Amino acid sequence: MQILQAFFVFINEKMEILKIAIQKSGRLSEKSLELIKEAGINFNNGSRNLVSRSSNFPVELLFLRDDDIPQYVTDNVADIGIVGENEVLEKGYKVTTVKKLGFSKCRLSLAIPKSIEFSGPEFFNGKRIATSYPKILSKYLKKNNIKAEIHTISGSVEIAPGIGLADGIFDIVSSGSTLISNRLKEVEVVLNSEAVIISSPQISEAKKKILDKLLFRINAVQTAGSNKYILLNAPNENLQAIIDVIPGMKSPTVMPLAQEGWSSVHSVLSEKEFWEVIDQLKDLGAQGILVIPIEKMIV
Ligand code: ATP
Ligand code: ZN
Repeated sequence: MQILQAFFVFINEKMEILKIAIQKSGRLSEKSLELIKEAGINFNNGSRNLVSRSSNFPVELLFLRDDDIPQYVTDNVADIGIVGENEVLEKGYKVTTVKKLGFSKCRLSLAIPKSIEFSGPEFFNGKRIATSYPKILSKYLKKNNIKAEIHTISGSVEIAPGIGLADGIFDIVSSGSTLISNRLKEVEVVLNSEAVIISSPQISEAKKKILDKLLFRINAVQTAGSNKYILLNAPNENLQAIIDVIPGMKSPTVMPLAQEGWSSVHSVLSEKEFWEVIDQLKDLGAQGILVIPIEKMIV
């Protein structure tokens, strides 16, 4: 009996599919798909279908408009979703942010015509602000005790001041070039946003297990991306000093070279400290420095 029960639990787990909502086409799509592919999850057909099942991992992709993703996850149509934090906050649904992904970074900012002097947030008192993000904006205005009129429009917010529809805008900014070409200037950053994985708070245990496996893979890919494998030849008299500069994950691998007085050192180096460390290594007499990308890294 117990064996039978265990068998059914096994079959049930086997049949569970984690449904992942991603943007069908837009600024999040390519990076979302890339992340999933780098985690070793294969799909036979592209994003032309609404739904696509992986051939080697228990997940299914649902291709949707980004605005709809928080709701689909709340309603359990999808178990998790990849979407910008800006959409999550604007929609205000009860979803759990599981992981920040570090791409599609942007900010939600207030902007006004370039020629107008800005005195501070109180400038917006009694003014009209055009936006596609009325919820986040009204929260900000309330917090800062500003009484302004919000005009909700769904696109091309940046042209609103030019056509006399508003005195200022509240919109997504990344490089700022759209603002410049519309003769606007950014005056207040209200929110910094990036792509995140959200999940339904009611996710089942079996699906949670699949999600944990997926997160494990994503972490391995991301850690690898921010690290490099380094090999170099070190003069033995400076070996310890060189090891101190590149301590690696546990400690570096050190092997003697055929030529006496020299060792080969292998280690892992963080991308952030890369150039600084290379300079120090050169000063310590390291030679033949090779730096190699790491594909996956399990720490
Ligand atoms: P959809 O047709 O799916 O509704 P959309 O036009 O609303 O797409 P996109 O312009 O593709 O949305 O933007 C999707 C998300 O990408 C935004 O919600 C935001 O999180 C992020 N994003 C938007 N603009 C930029 C930008 N200029 N730079 C970086 N990320 C951005
Ligand atoms: Zn959208």
